[in-house]
Amino acid sequence: MIRITVWNEYKHERELEEIKKIYPKGIHECIREFLEEEGFQVRTAVFSMEEHGLTEEVLEHTDVLIFWSHALQEEFSSEVASRVQRHVQEGMGLIALHSAHFSKIMKELLGTSMTLKWRHGDRERLWCIAPSHPIAQGIDESIEIPQEEMYGEYFDIPKPDEVVFAGWFSGGEVFRSGCTFTRGLGKIFYFQPGHEEYPIYYIPQIQKIIKNAVRWCAPSHRERKVLDCQEIRISPEEKRRKTGGEK
Ligand code: ZN
Repeated sequence: MIRITVWNEYKHERELEEIKKIYPKGIHECIREFLEEEGFQVRTAVFSMEEHGLTEEVLEHTDVLIFWSHALQEEFSSEVASRVQRHVQEGMGLIALHSAHFSKIMKELLGTSMTLKWRHGDRERLWCIAPSHPIAQGIDESIEIPQEEMYGEYFDIPKPDEVVFAGWFSGGEVFRSGCTFTRGLGKIFYFQPGHEEYPIYYIPQIQKIIKNAVRWCAPSHRERKVLDCQEIRISPEEKRRKTGGEK
């Protein structure tokens, strides 16, 4: 069974009434509910917990980390960010949602400024532009998001492995809204929808994309390892000769 940790900053939903109305128990609990319905094993963690709830032990038992952050990016512990980065490099999957593009975790993993353009109060049509990708299975050609914050290009990311979704906004901007990356043994999916002022994580097709992404970025093998430089003293061919592999 895939073991997921849903991490949320959990600040706006506690402090702002209009956002509390949309996510009474926080974005993390909304995401937990639809993932549990799918049969995944889910735990949650939030910023206020010790070590932000992302201890070595929690990460060791996490196949996929889902991460939503916004207002506390700078306050997030650099030590914890480096720990998450290492776990991704060792094979843990990472799904970074919406404003988490600007998290220390994503900046460290991807190495670019992660800057973009934004504007409140727009409407998005999310286009699936890689229909054969596992994350796109069962997803319509396009998804209407009636209210969303505009995120626009240029989005300063390294060249993605795949761009699975492209967002079009009614103001005219476009955005690479669903991108995959690989770092070490870990798979990363960045997914733009999910501004906290709108009930975006209740949209069934958005939930389906996140469920697909969990399956896609879960490590295929449980044993994680650090990729390291190795000196090879005996070449594979030499080994083959010694074991009598060559006639
Ligand atoms: Zn936002």
